Amino acid sequence: MPEQANPFESLQAQIDDAAAHLDVAEDVIERLKHPERVLETNLTVEMDDGSLERFVAFRSQFNGDRGPYKGGIRYHPDVTRDEVKALSGWMTYKTATVDIPLGGGKGGIVIDPSEYSESELERVTRAFAKELRPLIGEDRDIPAPDVNTGQREMNWIKDTYETLENTTEPGVITGKNLASGGSEGRVEATGRSTVIAAREAFDYLGKDLEGATVAVQGYGNAGWISAKLIDEMGATVVAASDSSGGIYNPDGFDPVAAKQHKNETGSVVGYDEAEEEITNEDVLTLDVDLLIPAALENAVDGDLAEDVTADVISEAANGPLTPAADRVLAETDTIIVPDILANAGGVTVSYFEWVQNRQRFYWSEEKVNEELEAIIVDAFDALVETYEEKDLETFREAAYVVAIQRVVDAYEEAGSFP
Ligand code: NAD
Repeated sequence: MPEQANPFESLQAQIDDAAAHLDVAEDVIERLKHPERVLETNLTVEMDDGSLERFVAFRSQFNGDRGPYKGGIRYHPDVTRDEVKALSGWMTYKTATVDIPLGGGKGGIVIDPSEYSESELERVTRAFAKELRPLIGEDRDIPAPDVNTGQREMNWIKDTYETLENTTEPGVITGKNLASGGSEGRVEATGRSTVIAAREAFDYLGKDLEGATVAVQGYGNAGWISAKLIDEMGATVVAASDSSGGIYNPDGFDPVAAKQHKNETGSVVGYDEAEEEITNEDVLTLDVDLLIPAALENAVDGDLAEDVTADVISEAANGPLTPAADRVLAETDTIIVPDILANAGGVTVSYFEWVQNRQRFYWSEEKVNEELEAIIVDAFDALVETYEEKDLETFREAAYVVAIQRVVDAYEEAGSFP
């Protein structure tokens, strides 16, 4: 069982590591280690049988120095206040890493959505949207999907907000479906940036992506799209997993067919092109060229990291490696493209969605993908420049150095109030 690092402490440790390479006063760094505010609310919602049930929900607004708070809403039974705070901090440094004019926020409801009907989930979501209403808005805080939420929940939140505000403001939320003001390319965006980042890392190492072997842990939105796109780039997906277990075929398998199998049966396990069943831990430690962790935080701890052999890890998930795992892997040649760059495609196309909503003018999928490619490649180049210039130990440190400096610059330019 991997060590359960407190994600908020992990975030703060990452900021401290990066701050050691920056010429920024300690009191300013202290400010950057804590959210500006956190909403904790109890939602009392009527169930289909007429009974009432209470759900705890959070929204953390971590930092707005560079623009409105931005970040997803997660539905999961293990959501905690510290997890939401950490995720909102990672959003702050993610939007800064890719240099889009947004801050960082995150929300979550402590709920296992598989135990509730669609109408119950709609009432829970609308109750949360009502609580969020004074805090959100297209110039204030713009939520988005995360684990176990998607276009359906985003449309409910938008509709609740617009109804209560008596307005039309599609830019209050992103990750909507196209009919409600969503963007082309949003669904694929996180997987797309994960594989662009992996491709750049292979280039940096002088390694060929063509024929490289890939393992993907987690086969939801981020994981399966990464698998599909990396396969299209010529790599070979040999292993994948979800919460029910893992599958493996050393000769590779069709990631789209594996997804179809998961759609039909609920899991990748049992997909007949990859008959060998392996554990989730095996997927993380297979002898592959590229590992894409795309499930939840803390998937790899210090002990498991000893057995990780991939040359490149592109973090589709947020915080998949504990700080102890990072320390172990820093001693090896493994290149880790950190979450705040690798999975930033989601928030970048959310930003494009918001831009399009505000302009009431919509882009083609081709334009979205071109703009995304440019932003991720620029962010990767800035990371490598800082990594080399400052002779840093890891790409993660380099990303935080770049991002923290950008947030500090915005804060110091603005001066403090009051
Ligand atoms: P999702 O709910 O669509 O998929 C999660 C997947 O992980 C599922 O297949 C689930 O079965 C699997 N999983 C859960 N526990 C597992 C375990 N112990 N081992 C293996 N698999 C396990 O969620 P998602 O949107 O793909 O998000 C996955 C990660 O990517 C999260 O960390 C999320 O914060 C991050 N992320 C997502 C987006 C996005 O746009 N979807 C953007 C940025 C970051």
